[in-house]
Amino acid sequence: MRKHMDNLTALLRDSRPFTCKQCGGVMNYIGRGTYECENCKSLEYDDYGKITKYIEENGPSPAITISRATGIPRERITALLRDGRVEIPNGYNESVYLTCQKCGSRIRYGQVCPTCGAAMAGGDPKKMDFGKIGARPATGTGGGVKKSGYGNLADQLGDGKWRYRK
Ligand SMILES: [Zn+2]
Ligand SMILES: [Zn+2]
Repeated sequence: MRKHMDNLTALLRDSRPFTCKQCGGVMNYIGRGTYECENCKSLEYDDYGKITKYIEENGPSPAITISRATGIPRERITALLRDGRVEIPNGYNESVYLTCQKCGSRIRYGQVCPTCGAAMAGGDPKKMDFGKIGARPATGTGGGVKKSGYGNLADQLGDGKWRYRK
């Protein structure tokens, strides 16, 4: 997993804007993947910022739609999902979601499902790594989130929208 994180950090660093497109000034990081020019105050975004800006302006969208609109490769969006920085909302076709790296069940973000996350922690909630555990997509048409067992703990982190998680 260390390698995965390093790759993601490198990918985000590659997409970082260093100079202002308007005036050539230095871009300073102001949070949420957004950079501000120290001269003219215009804003630029790294991939993380572009994805979130798209979501804020267009609402929840599947990864493929965001990829087409922003030009960011879908694999990079997937890397952000695996890292838990963004999540796929409830209510999409099953094929849109990620799969648990242990059992293959569908999750909205992260690396493993709540069941496998609990098993990896020996059933001890204090040892559960919530940075890796993703919520399952809600099933059915009501959009309701299944509340049961360990799934409930992870589901409470999600509100059904693509969004920043940290
Ligand atoms: Zn500028
Ligand atoms: Zn699993």
